[in-house]
Amino acid sequence: MDVWTIKRLLDWITGYLTKQGVDSPHLSAELLLCEVLTLERIELYTQFDRVVAKPQLDALHSLVKRAGEHEPVAYLVGRCEFYSLSLKITPDCLIPRPETEELVERAILFLRDRPGSQAVLDVGTGSGCIAAAIAKNVPAAQVVATDVCEAALSVAAGNIRSLGLAERVRLLAGDLFDPVIKGLDGPAFDLIVSNPPYVSESEYEALDKNVKDYEPKRALLAGADGLDLYRRIIAEAAEYLKPDGALMLEIGCRQGASISDLLAGSGDYGHARIEKDLSGHERIVKAVRLFRPHGDEDTNESFG
Ligand code: GLN
Repeated sequence: MDVWTIKRLLDWITGYLTKQGVDSPHLSAELLLCEVLTLERIELYTQFDRVVAKPQLDALHSLVKRAGEHEPVAYLVGRCEFYSLSLKITPDCLIPRPETEELVERAILFLRDRPGSQAVLDVGTGSGCIAAAIAKNVPAAQVVATDVCEAALSVAAGNIRSLGLAERVRLLAGDLFDPVIKGLDGPAFDLIVSNPPYVSESEYEALDKNVKDYEPKRALLAGADGLDLYRRIIAEAAEYLKPDGALMLEIGCRQGASISDLLAGSGDYGHARIEKDLSGHERIVKAVRLFRPHGDEDTNESFG
């Protein structure tokens, strides 16, 4: 009786991935089956007894083997779910993490609290996940998103287009703030948001195989202490912010104190809050720009 039904496959793959030590083995099994059978997850359960044909079993075999070797399922199926959006993902970009949804959540609350149109800058957008989730949930937001990696930016462009957000999200190629022209690509920004690389050299060596061997190193590693990108972002962001604008960053769980020092040392931010994620780790920093009434403020004109 070598008949493979959806139910039998689901059980077998879940067991196999569990044995291999893969994270979320049941969800991974569901996603691989959905990919090969072009079904939604719920349909697996309404078609439990469906017999899966040989060509599909062959396709599944190779995917299950790769998943068992810790290749991320998001790359195998080319998609992932982020903030209830289905995003295209390739190995050119980091796989969006649940912690980053918490950054997005706070960014959305901040923007919704402010009147009028909101200018947002997402620095190092990768797949475009932060920019897309903000634009989707804050209709008053105009988002500019940058990335130094053209291949990642083309994934972001696909996501922005397929979500119907091209009118409100503009993608620019370049390092951090380099491609942004002040006063042209936006007036000063209400919010600058970023999930930059923040892994230190020693942490990088210790990353799980599914991250270290498959996700882009340049999206993860940020110098010996993991703070290289924060140094640059914190030094540059204030000049792109409105007087009451905010900088919101995802940070590593042991970086809170160093980030507070960097913010205080810059003298550009009035107060900074470090918030914990759902696992209780320090994860999100929100710093409001220090308003200097006598400083030079940028014009609010823009033709972008
Ligand atoms: N949180 C990610 C990880 O642990 C790192 C993300 C980043 O560097 N921006 O793999």
